[in-house]
Amino acid sequence: MPQNISIVENILNANDRLAEENFARIEAAGVFSINIIASPGAGKTSLIEKTLPLLKGKLRVAAVDGDIATSIDTDRAAAAGAAAAVQINTGGDCHLDAVMLRGALDQLDLTQFDLLIVENVGNLVCPANFKLGTHKTVLVASVPEGDDKPYKYPGTYRGVDALVVNKIDLLPYVDFRMEYFTQGVQVLNPNVTTFPLSCRTGEGLEAWVEWLIEHSKK
Ligand code: MG
Ligand code: ZN
Repeated sequence: MPQNISIVENILNANDRLAEENFARIEAAGVFSINIIASPGAGKTSLIEKTLPLLKGKLRVAAVDGDIATSIDTDRAAAAGAAAAVQINTGGDCHLDAVMLRGALDQLDLTQFDLLIVENVGNLVCPANFKLGTHKTVLVASVPEGDDKPYKYPGTYRGVDALVVNKIDLLPYVDFRMEYFTQGVQVLNPNVTTFPLSCRTGEGLEAWVEWLIEHSKK
């Protein structure tokens, strides 16, 4: 057992070193970067799809999509107006790591962009453990998932810089106590920037887009 633990630690340390290299590269190119994590179906791709048209003419955006097998999400990002969209097929892995992002960065001329959006694999557990080297980690929660998620996935909620609460248009139809959810988040991550919104109706998207623009223009 102790040996297994040290192997895992070594993997994470190696990943962190590569993540630092990625960060230096992104930073040198003057690009603001986010790593979007969420459970499957929370709306990562929908968020990207709704955000890109609102950034048109304001920011040049590169999208990197991690997916276990398909390029569906990358195709959607490209169709929504990403100036470049790079697909990472993880070949079954349930998260992106810094090596995978490095491979994607190799395919981009970073100096051509203001914002790099990385869509992680849909999974609430391990993406939080693998730094990629982006400036911010954004967690997308969604109303139908339930209001207990901060309590069940404290490690994930604790480590993120921004929290999008998607599908607020469904609040009248599901048992989601916003107060209970918010209390859970507060305990773990009191300073997290939160954006309640609906990708379907567009409500709340403006504040999210403003946040991206603000951080992208240094
Ligand atoms: Mg997706
Ligand atoms: Zn994983």
